[in-house]
Amino acid sequence: MKKLAAGLCAMALVATAVQAQTVKDFLAAVMPKWTTPFAPFQLIGNIYYVGTDGIAVYVIKTSDGLILMDTLVPQSTGMIKDSIAKLGFKLSDIKLILNSHAHFDHTGGFAELKKETGAQLVAGERDKPLLESGTYPGDENDADLSFTPVKVDRSVKEGDKVTLGDTTLIAHSMPGHTPGCTSWEMTVKDGDQDRDVLFFCSGTVALNRLVGEPTYPGIVDDYRATYVKAKAMKPDVLLGPHPDVYGMQNKRAQMKDGAPNPFVKPGEFATYIASLEQDFDKQLAKQTAALKK
Ligand SMILES: [Zn+2]
Repeated sequence: MKKLAAGLCAMALVATAVQAQTVKDFLAAVMPKWTTPFAPFQLIGNIYYVGTDGIAVYVIKTSDGLILMDTLVPQSTGMIKDSIAKLGFKLSDIKLILNSHAHFDHTGGFAELKKETGAQLVAGERDKPLLESGTYPGDENDADLSFTPVKVDRSVKEGDKVTLGDTTLIAHSMPGHTPGCTSWEMTVKDGDQDRDVLFFCSGTVALNRLVGEPTYPGIVDDYRATYVKAKAMKPDVLLGPHPDVYGMQNKRAQMKDGAPNPFVKPGEFATYIASLEQDFDKQLAKQTAALKK
């Protein structure tokens, strides 16, 4: 019995080491793109892009100040400030900070920017403990994935509305990628047309463990329910936490004065969700097979 326990313990250690190496490899691969600056621009209506080449951050201009959607990895907060200044906005005008999900590549600047602006942080109810502990779900002890803990001033669930001045966003709870993953919906003026914009939270598997010892209990059911919910949504404009979700760079290059805004692309979300779901099935099969070895 003792021998078995020791064996299990050694296995757990190996599993932890493998996981840590996976995280290091993953970060080494993505970090260069994530930290490459991208020239800020007005994306559509009152929505502005202030992210990098690999992580999306948005500013929404309202009649009563600015809303900031997400931040970057902890070391890149200065890039957000630069981009905001380049657009002629004042950091001190940020009144609300919204979060898509509590992963360090979107939350790294929260503590610093909240302190500097006094803005209120709004996030999905089930991500609140992660934000307030500065940890990555399922990898709570991995320093590479942690960030400065930050107090959540308001937590939201499905259908909750957040308003600043003339702008209202609706929260859509879409768990899986994180337990409190929240997509945000709003309407923008595009010329004389109203466009429905969705800031999709994320639906990729990323570093999540789906089987064995899952990242969190019920994760597979959450992903499935999120895909079902997503299929019923038909935004005119798809945005996301990383520019590759909606081909930001290509569309940015296509923008021209007087021409239709390339970010308006009804139907894009359905195609994207179908590809996400396919990938999810593949990853689930892979993880299940690995477990049986
Ligand atoms: Zn994430």
